[in-house]
Amino acid sequence: MTSQNRQLHVFFFPFMAPGHSIPIIDLAILFAGKGVKSTIIAPPPDAAHISKVIEKPRNSGYEVDVLDIEFPTVEAGLPEGCESLDKLSSPDMLVKFFLATQLLKRPLEDLIRQHRPHCLVADMFFPWTNDVAAASGIPRIFFHGTCAFSFSAMEHVRLYEPHKNVSSDSEPFLIPKFPGDIMLTRSQLPDFVTQETWFIKLFNEFIESGSKSFGVIVNSFYELEPVYADHYTNFLGRKAWHVGPVSLSTKGIIDKTNRGKQSSIDENECLNWLKLKEPNSVIYICFGSMADFDSCQLIEIAKALEASGQSFVWVVRNEKEKLLPEGFERKMEGKGLIIRGWAPQVLILENEAIGGFVTHCGWNSVLEAVSTGVPVITWPVAAEQFYNEKLLTEILKIGVGVGARKWKRLVGDFVRSEAIEKAVREVIAGECAVEMRNRAKRLAEMAKKAVENGGSSDSHLNALIGELKSLSPFNQVNN
Ligand code: UDP
Repeated sequence: MTSQNRQLHVFFFPFMAPGHSIPIIDLAILFAGKGVKSTIIAPPPDAAHISKVIEKPRNSGYEVDVLDIEFPTVEAGLPEGCESLDKLSSPDMLVKFFLATQLLKRPLEDLIRQHRPHCLVADMFFPWTNDVAAASGIPRIFFHGTCAFSFSAMEHVRLYEPHKNVSSDSEPFLIPKFPGDIMLTRSQLPDFVTQETWFIKLFNEFIESGSKSFGVIVNSFYELEPVYADHYTNFLGRKAWHVGPVSLSTKGIIDKTNRGKQSSIDENECLNWLKLKEPNSVIYICFGSMADFDSCQLIEIAKALEASGQSFVWVVRNEKEKLLPEGFERKMEGKGLIIRGWAPQVLILENEAIGGFVTHCGWNSVLEAVSTGVPVITWPVAAEQFYNEKLLTEILKIGVGVGARKWKRLVGDFVRSEAIEKAVREVIAGECAVEMRNRAKRLAEMAKKAVENGGSSDSHLNALIGELKSLSPFNQVNN
């Protein structure tokens, strides 16, 4: 059989957190749409959900499958059921969680030996997968889940340490040798950059494994950040394929209602509620799968929403519902829809009633806003979200910040209701609202074109698949 006729088989190994697994599942389906056999590796509870997500593509003839990998919660000293980052309830569990992921090396090797894929696409949080792939003679592709702008900006800060040359946490510094004169403050940087925490060594390993991998898949599209996509390759020397937005590529192929998790609201209830609203009039508020605000912050948000006079859809994590102001939901009936738990985010953002998105700037949420042409109210909390905010407000100019100044894992900086209300008003009806909306809509058009046949992302994906097929593991006679 010639290599042209043989089928490429790729393993996809997402980190166990919704913000990491959602785009990798999309990616696996995207590959399968190109005739690749895609296998997703996940612990049983996630694998069960993934099986449901891939049911529709499988019924349409896509060769996409999921394999269980047992997550060693007990061995790592974690309570049962903690197979996903969003299930952890204390910082010491985080250390154990990362330790547990390292114990996945042996089971992954076994799966590779059994199923003999030609390539391994693995999350950045699994640096050891470079060795696993190398031992099996296959390439490992690195997936970091953010954009070229933020990843390179982070690299510049890591390499040049500009935060060490300022005298306070609030004094701004310029990111050195980085296009666009981007200023940040030390308080906006992750604690593992500014302090000697246990995570810093691990983080450096993650980044170094990226530079030693076969290349990087970026969930972004070239036209969104051309300067930074080029910079990523030319300055950082990373071989990269910009294949996103992956959520747009799988549109119509997967069921959007239960993307990531089972939705807490019936799709029709949600859409019927939005149907009654004017176009661009509703604010959607959601802080992803990890951020976890306290009662005081939720009260400030509630006050701001009421004072803004806008209709809203607000996603409040299950266990937090009791912390909302007494009687708030009743008072807001008709004006506000509160979703407790998990919302069908992409479905909501696509609705023409949505006029603004209050977001923590997680990259998936950012790209989903871009793909649907929705301007943003930015409220970064942790991870690389302060960098993403810069891209949105200063480079793409499709958003306004609420003024969060401090990086704080999960809980974020405290923001007063007046600042939230002001940002909401500016995005919906401020002086620059129309311009911002038009820019967002133009980006959405560009995103759509990028993933169409012959678009930049589609071409990058074809090039990557072509390159994988030209490699020796794929061409070996006995494969
Ligand atoms: N998401 C969702 N419903 C929710 C919360 C989140 O569908 O109620 C999805 C969202 O669409 C995005 C992902 O979960 O795809 C969150 O990823 P992001 O990078 O935005 O943030 P993280 O959760 O990693 O902080």
